Amino acid sequence: MNDGREDVRRAAEDLAERLPDALAPLARLAYNYRWSWLPGGPEVFAAIDPERFVLACQNPVRTLQEVSHATLRRAAADQGLLERIAPVEAQVKADLDRPPYPSIDPARPVAFLCAEYGIHVSLPVYSGGLGALAGDLLKEASDCAVPLVAVGLMYRKGYFRQRIDAGGWQHEYWIDTDPHRLPAALVTGAGEIPLKIEVPIYDQEVTAQIWRVDVGRVPLFLLDTDVPENGPVERWITGRLYESDEHIRLAQYVLLGAGGVRALTALGFEPGVIHLNEGHAALAPVQLAAQEMHSGEQLATGIAAARERTVFTTHTPVPAGNDTYPTSQVEEAIGNLMGQLGIEAREVIALGRTNPEDEDEPFGVTQAALRMSRAANGVSRRHGEVAREMWKALWPELEVSEVPVAHVTNGVHVPTWIGTPIRELMDRHLGEGWMAHAAEPETWARVDQISDADLWQARERQRAGLITELRTRSTNERLQRGDVREYVHAAAKTFDPHVLTIGFARRVATYKRIDLLTRDPEWTQALLGGDQPVQVVLAGKAHPRDEEAKRTLQRLFGMKGAKIVGQRVVFLDDYDLATAAWLVRGCDVWLNVPRPPLEASGTSGMKSVVNGGLQLSVLDGWWAEGYDGENGWALSGEVDSDHQGQDERDASALHKLLDEQVLPAFYDRDEHGIPVAWLARVRASLKTLGPRFSATRMLSEYVSGPYRGS
Ligand SMILES: *Cc1c(COP(=O)(O)O)cnc(C)c1O
Repeated sequence: MNDGREDVRRAAEDLAERLPDALAPLARLAYNYRWSWLPGGPEVFAAIDPERFVLACQNPVRTLQEVSHATLRRAAADQGLLERIAPVEAQVKADLDRPPYPSIDPARPVAFLCAEYGIHVSLPVYSGGLGALAGDLLKEASDCAVPLVAVGLMYRKGYFRQRIDAGGWQHEYWIDTDPHRLPAALVTGAGEIPLKIEVPIYDQEVTAQIWRVDVGRVPLFLLDTDVPENGPVERWITGRLYESDEHIRLAQYVLLGAGGVRALTALGFEPGVIHLNEGHAALAPVQLAAQEMHSGEQLATGIAAARERTVFTTHTPVPAGNDTYPTSQVEEAIGNLMGQLGIEAREVIALGRTNPEDEDEPFGVTQAALRMSRAANGVSRRHGEVAREMWKALWPELEVSEVPVAHVTNGVHVPTWIGTPIRELMDRHLGEGWMAHAAEPETWARVDQISDADLWQARERQRAGLITELRTRSTNERLQRGDVREYVHAAAKTFDPHVLTIGFARRVATYKRIDLLTRDPEWTQALLGGDQPVQVVLAGKAHPRDEEAKRTLQRLFGMKGAKIVGQRVVFLDDYDLATAAWLVRGCDVWLNVPRPPLEASGTSGMKSVVNGGLQLSVLDGWWAEGYDGENGWALSGEVDSDHQGQDERDASALHKLLDEQVLPAFYDRDEHGIPVAWLARVRASLKTLGPRFSATRMLSEYVSGPYRGS
């Protein structure tokens, strides 16, 4: 089996050679992201050279490659550090040595295919929610020892980075990633020669090599077309995530789907089930069908067999999120591939149409994935309903309620997102190994044993951590933008660790309505500067071609002239996994005001929940099934085609909630300075939402539902 395991081991050994013997275990730890969700894991790498670890974007391999020999010698002589490394190494080893989860045959693992993975900030192959969810699922599969292998693409330039100028306009730039400096190893075959696969795309035979990244027990394989065999255009296929050039984007999907299945075969895997996480990999079942078809068999027969091994998760009801391509373009892209597979391209394209016979209808990846999967699901109860309505035309003979799209509500990987003060508190009260039981209500019920004083202290510590980070970052960003001195100083001086902190961070798309909070400038200023003040942290990227979203950002920045806004509102550039972690840990209130019903699930709010944050959110996505009247606050989830009217109503409802409920609950204190009513809500939130929106619950539903029988 050429599954790259040896290659990762060799890469770690190579790195170990540059280290003093006492530090050799660090090289092995560095090549498996398991350290990143182990208490004490990040700390051992940071301890070697804190500054370099930050410069290297918390990438342990790069840190160890770049750190000076003198520093390494000093670290090797630090007995305290060596004593901290040993238990981390022992825990990772014990974790990797556990027997696999019983109900899935490890010889026939789940193969998870996704265009992006948010594993860690040092592996920039993600953009946002879909990637974060995929990363959390992989880590949870590792924790639960579920046999799962994942396939994606090694984008050499990742997703765009964001810089906002002093006028509030977003600029995009890209940073090259050198995979040799990542915790990744090139998979080799006989004679240590890189293993390669070929896929005809358009009129070229495209070659891809394969990187292996270890995420605990789960191997993640990333296809990479930046190899000498390819011309410059083909090399660019794995250049940027969500490339705007349609031609290349389609090539990426062909590579991910067909190439993904070819790679699994080349690596020696025989998946029991293939999970298409979003429609980008929709051609995977076609490749699978071809591999299982006997000569002379009809495509339909092959697809029927592949369908029995394919499951699909749809992640968005936003039309732009469900890619479609004109027939002629798809024919050009897959014609040669289908010729090689002995399949009529036209038949495959028909599978991607709502009305297969309608030659004018474009090919939709979601339709194709729905048709070729034995099970399909949305990502929250409400999204399941929305998706059945949205795709019912594919099953004209069925009632909407019978449309075969179920739901598995998203969940988040608790060890990744929980902040240290809250985790330590939970460790003391929820019982040994409580995270393994994060899906059980009894686990979280023990939150009642925590005293108000302790709970509040942990919350205060997490908020204070965020404020320190914010002061530094916002000062730097304002300096970099060339902002006026007064505005620069405002951030550093006035952000207050005791002020109610509201977070709003997510993609800046029009439907997310980031400007709902600022529609009425007078009210906004009163809110920020009142006796019971609030401060607001914002972050998020607008799609490079979404001019409307960019103008929204610009309008937001237009308010910074008011002194109070400069002091109490900060926008952080370049929202990523690391920024997200700071925000969900430190914010008291997590705000989400999408236009219903366009939020499929949302997951950042769940990350806030496990940190004792409270939700103020529209009843859409996960919140529509999470809110119970006591565990946060809600705005109407009603659908309304009059957007203007809806925005006005929702803005005033938001104002009312903040003024009449949120602020008083936070600022009403007992004689010890503790907000008792606030903490009652925090407890209700942890107890009711903790078990239901953990990735542990989500994965168990995938295992007992879509994955079953594989
Ligand atoms: C969790 C997360 C998201 C998802 O946010 P939602 O808007 O709640 O879906 C997006 N980006 C990053 C970096 C995240 O960590």
